[in-house]
Amino acid sequence: MNKIDSIASYDAPHSCSREWLKKAIEIIEAEINRSADTHLIRYDLPASCGITLYLKDESCHPTGSLKHRLARSLFLYSLCNGKIGPKTTIVEASSGSTAVSEAYFAKLIGVPFVTVIPRTTSPQKVAAIEAYGGRVHFIDDPKSVYVTAQNLADELGGYYIDQFTFAERATDWRGNNNIADSIFCQMAKEPHPVPEWIIASAGTGGTSATLGRYIRYRKFSTRLCVADPEASVFHLHYADRSIKEIDCCRSVIEGIGRARVEPSFMPDVIDRMISVPDQASLAAMRVISRLIGRSCGGSTGTNVYAAAELISDMIKNHQHGSLVTLICDSGERYRSTYLDDQWLGKRGFDISGDMKRLERLFLEAKPF
Ligand SMILES: *Cc1c(COP(=O)(O)O)cnc(C)c1O
Repeated sequence: MNKIDSIASYDAPHSCSREWLKKAIEIIEAEINRSADTHLIRYDLPASCGITLYLKDESCHPTGSLKHRLARSLFLYSLCNGKIGPKTTIVEASSGSTAVSEAYFAKLIGVPFVTVIPRTTSPQKVAAIEAYGGRVHFIDDPKSVYVTAQNLADELGGYYIDQFTFAERATDWRGNNNIADSIFCQMAKEPHPVPEWIIASAGTGGTSATLGRYIRYRKFSTRLCVADPEASVFHLHYADRSIKEIDCCRSVIEGIGRARVEPSFMPDVIDRMISVPDQASLAAMRVISRLIGRSCGGSTGTNVYAAAELISDMIKNHQHGSLVTLICDSGERYRSTYLDDQWLGKRGFDISGDMKRLERLFLEAKPF
């Protein structure tokens, strides 16, 4: 080793040998090699309306949500940027799902993991993080999540992996079997292979950034709709770019809706945003779970409700075609919350009316 090399390795905070780096990347590549693609589930509305809704089931990743893709990309990105070494503690700010997936990848490559999460995060997610050996640091004020994560990383000499900043750039948006690439491949043999709409929701904004960029790059006519909880800032920012923050986001839908416009949120690749009341999301979550026979989480409900509004407009305009949305995670994670009628009652949610409207749309093609 010459002098320059030894100085470099002494000074770098996350220094690691190229040998260790190679091993870490190989471990993640092997994980990709063991994984199967997620299903694209088809739901046909009554034949009379000629509309089909497809749902990309991201709940079947090994760590149970679409955050599996993000965590994998963030680890590769950070490793290849020289930010992670064998002794680096990874720190993340999360509302839960990302932390579950990152704890899994941290364990795979053998580095410690700590996450800063709101105290209201579902107990099932906390259990999953801890099962992968991750440590949990609870906070009461969701707004302090970013600073707390950065401070914790500084104290521990660790690395704040920062999904909210890096989600949009850690993913290979041109292809490489990203979520958009996978959807269009799986649609290839369907009657309407190019969907009228793809509907996603935004937490980091990373998924919608990938979808929007890919649609444009591949020159598809598909439009991207982002469904956002009413209490979130993203749709306000979409309508008025000077709005960048609100006091707090009171939505109960975990994983999506923020009080701050996250750096990874890319409004210019979104064709439309639909704001969705939590009550409607919770109703749609139950209806779609029953219709397709798979348990879906709250943000899936938000997606499906927005899809229902688009379908409703298509029916009124006698338009045929397909729409694609995402099952972001499973309802099993919310057994003690969204799926508990007492929990809903205590919070004043009455979902029966919205459920009836949704059932009439999906089963009888009756528009809203
Ligand atoms: C993160 C998340 C989303 C949104 O995905 P982003 O790519 O972060 O915008 C939707 N649903 C759930 C359950 C999530 O955890």
